[in-house]
Amino acid sequence: MTQIATDSTVGVQSLGSISVESLKRVGPKVAERLARLGIQSVQDVLFHLPVRYQDRTRLISIADLRPGVEALIEGEILGAEIAMGRRRSLKVWLGDSVGSLVMLRFFHFSTQQAASLKTGARLRCYSEVRQGPTELEMIHPEYRLREGEDDPADARLTPIYPSTEGLQQAAWRGLTEQALALMAQLSPLELLPGETLAHLGLPSLAEALRYLHHPPLEASLEELLERRHPAFVRLAFEELVAHQVSLRRMRLTQRQIAAPLLAGDGRLRGRLRAGLPFALTAAQERVVGEIASDLMQPRPMQRLLQGDVGAGKTVVAALAALQALEAGFQVALMAPTELLSEQHLRSLDGWLQPLGVVPLWLAGRHKGRERSQRLEAIASGAARLVVGTHALFQDEVVFRDLGLVVVDEQHRFGVHQRMKLREKGERSGVAPHQLIMTATPIPRSLAMTFYADLDLSIIDTLPPGRTPITTVAVPDTRRDEVIERVMCACTQGRQAYWVCTLIEESEALECQAAEDTARQLTEGLPGLRVGLVHGRLKASERDAVMAQFATGALDLLVATTVIEVGVDVPNASLMIIENPERLGLAQLHQLRGRVGRGLIESHCLLLYHAPLSQIAHERLGILRSTTSGFEIAERDLAIRGAGEVLGTRQTGSIQFKIADPLRDQHLLTAAQHAADRILSVHPDVAEPLIARWLGAREGYGQV
Ligand code: ADP
Ligand code: MG
Repeated sequence: MTQIATDSTVGVQSLGSISVESLKRVGPKVAERLARLGIQSVQDVLFHLPVRYQDRTRLISIADLRPGVEALIEGEILGAEIAMGRRRSLKVWLGDSVGSLVMLRFFHFSTQQAASLKTGARLRCYSEVRQGPTELEMIHPEYRLREGEDDPADARLTPIYPSTEGLQQAAWRGLTEQALALMAQLSPLELLPGETLAHLGLPSLAEALRYLHHPPLEASLEELLERRHPAFVRLAFEELVAHQVSLRRMRLTQRQIAAPLLAGDGRLRGRLRAGLPFALTAAQERVVGEIASDLMQPRPMQRLLQGDVGAGKTVVAALAALQALEAGFQVALMAPTELLSEQHLRSLDGWLQPLGVVPLWLAGRHKGRERSQRLEAIASGAARLVVGTHALFQDEVVFRDLGLVVVDEQHRFGVHQRMKLREKGERSGVAPHQLIMTATPIPRSLAMTFYADLDLSIIDTLPPGRTPITTVAVPDTRRDEVIERVMCACTQGRQAYWVCTLIEESEALECQAAEDTARQLTEGLPGLRVGLVHGRLKASERDAVMAQFATGALDLLVATTVIEVGVDVPNASLMIIENPERLGLAQLHQLRGRVGRGLIESHCLLLYHAPLSQIAHERLGILRSTTSGFEIAERDLAIRGAGEVLGTRQTGSIQFKIADPLRDQHLLTAAQHAADRILSVHPDVAEPLIARWLGAREGYGQV
């Protein structure tokens, strides 16, 4: 069994406390370059793994060369010339005994170098092979003139390290040689419990590091490159465990804080339910129950509520809010944008006014006296339910007795914001409960990695009565047909959306595009009533247009992506999305959720601009093949990776050095078990493990 050593037992001799400057050929300059990559200690050098390997162990015959492959070759120079052309270059033809040929091409060369590469000389080269215009080529190969006969190929795969300016591969090899030699004397801190490693059949840390820096001759290059080798898995696993330990510790600490008991007598909730025009679905009832029992605990709820677009999360949030209000506590509801917060305000207003609950809206537009009055109402407790953006958590906003925070659209908030929220709500050791809602279903593997500090509730079925949406992709060369289609639907009494998209950064351009489109469509669709909404309109103007569309006074609504959330018009059964290739799958899915809300069969036309990239093509294909948000998220993840799916802001706070939550998802359950085991049986390992993998990254994982 592997012994668990901690810093205190190994003391100053641990590899983590030996500075890189103690290595040979590391002066202040090199040390500074290494520091740029976060490398300060010998242990850091060991954890700086090769990105790939070169196989210089075998000579490949020139006849066997294939484009795209890196190879070590040897041959005789059959001819050389300096070509003047557009760019001066030195061409050298290298051949073997059976007449195969490859051209070496140099763009930068000295006169001396050109002179040394003369016909008849023997050369050994290493480089990637490319298909040139007439023959195979190697551009700027590494080469060596051969003199003697005996020159064996390398005995090992050559590691290639990620580097920074001024640090050559040879320098890296020198550093790791020395670090490995030190490691042989002082083995690195083994932090994973021996029983865990044995159970998973993973090597010790020292074995894994040695293997990855010095793969033996028989190592499978493929296994190494695909990062499937146990040595690699061992390190990725350790990193996942470190993250789990960190998130769990955060969660445990959180659970030690007191929270108000929000029992409530059901008075308001009963009245809301009685007034609803529908009954809750079984899935909604289940999550309402999960939340209700959390709120009755003396510890703060930390719950993530996932539900597809239109799954009915708002009513669930309203019931949770009423439970807190019944118990005499304030509630804050936050959305990522002001527009979204306004939409929440409207739906809550409709449901809650009859119960005598008046939500207070706090937005950026509230200035001066209006603002101070609102802040005063929040501080005095006169405002019971406050709706706003995350600006609600600025210092100037002080709640009197905040019991519950509801955050909508979690995908825009990262771990950092979650933690800030927790801190903000905390008052003299009492923290509010938190409900976080997202319409971007998070694939299970990601949820396990990024939300290990949260409990999960899922609304997995849509309310009854929804008809599936048919989605097709149409090139914009067929725009006229699409316009015809709009005409046809609207003359049959249906309504349609036309969504204009532009690159997100420029709201002004997007609004301009929407205005132009609305004008063209008004001309192209005589007799139809066309409305326009975009982010630059005043709220009152936007409201008026939306209301007209909702009552059927408009046939076609041209809009920017502002209609992503909140519009609910069951008679609208056709949606055109222009340039869908510019949007993320989750956003497209959200937009599409605006149709298919009634009994009529709905259609979504993705009006794309050809040619589509391979990825864009695949993504639109996914959207056509399914309407399940969960499936879309899973498949989007497979194509784009975690960073894209969750948004960079989100993953920006959790960056993995080695692990990849998608590739390594099969390790996640084991990583969770190992994290539990460490926290319960080997708690002294938690700190060094977090320090090794998460370092001093601010806030995250720190208690
Ligand atoms: P989301 O989960 O996307 O926030 P909403 O809460 O906006 O979804 O709900 C979408 C629509 O479905 C709303 O019009 C809402 O009133 C309605 N709705 C919610 N729950 C039910 C239900 N159980 N039966 C029928 N309609 C429902
Ligand atoms: Mg919603």
